Amino acid sequence: MKKATKKDIEIIKEYFIKTYGNAVTELQYTNDFELLIAIILSAQCTDKRVNIITPALFAKYPNTQTLAYANLEDVKELLNTCSFFNNKAKNIIKMALSVEEQFAGVIPKTVDELMSLSGVGNKTAKVFLIEAYGANLMAVDTHVYRVAHRLGLAFGKTVEEVEEQLVKRLKNDLHIFHQAMVLFGRYHCKAVNPMCDECPLAMVCKSNGRFSVGK
Ligand code: SF4
Repeated sequence: MKKATKKDIEIIKEYFIKTYGNAVTELQYTNDFELLIAIILSAQCTDKRVNIITPALFAKYPNTQTLAYANLEDVKELLNTCSFFNNKAKNIIKMALSVEEQFAGVIPKTVDELMSLSGVGNKTAKVFLIEAYGANLMAVDTHVYRVAHRLGLAFGKTVEEVEEQLVKRLKNDLHIFHQAMVLFGRYHCKAVNPMCDECPLAMVCKSNGRFSVGK
């Protein structure tokens, strides 16, 4: 697979900014607490499913104070249509308790602090900061990984390598490019049957009709 040239990268950036410059996550939330919970729940689960689950959860446990002392079985019941709901229920209660005890009830705003919380890994922490604060960070999910390879923006075999290559090549406005690649990959450059015939980036795409890249 060929690498994207500087000119290709300019074309890709221009299209992503024009098309997705104002795009936001499809997860529904009203504050940092709700956003972090929604992102934790969205691991291995669709945003659509998470948006069905969270209204009842947030109505009963609207903040870290209430969730920190929640009954585990009750939280499991509220999450029971989500993948891995047993672990996710334990993690969000522990996360809320840590925020209460270590951060005075305020969701922290650095990657390292966020990663000290239960259920929050590197990708979750970065997605949270991208969505909440427009941080100039890249987080690599399955869509970002696939799109980056097909467009010749990255060649790494691990998410860490792909993240490093995207940061190096795209440099600025990473919060926009993250959101753009998630949505472009979810609805257009899909894993199976990508819409190549009507693709606005076909002239810079490096996939040559090979669609086996996926993760
Ligand atoms: S041409 Fe096809 S594979 Fe390439 S970016 Fe467009 S949709 Fe994706």
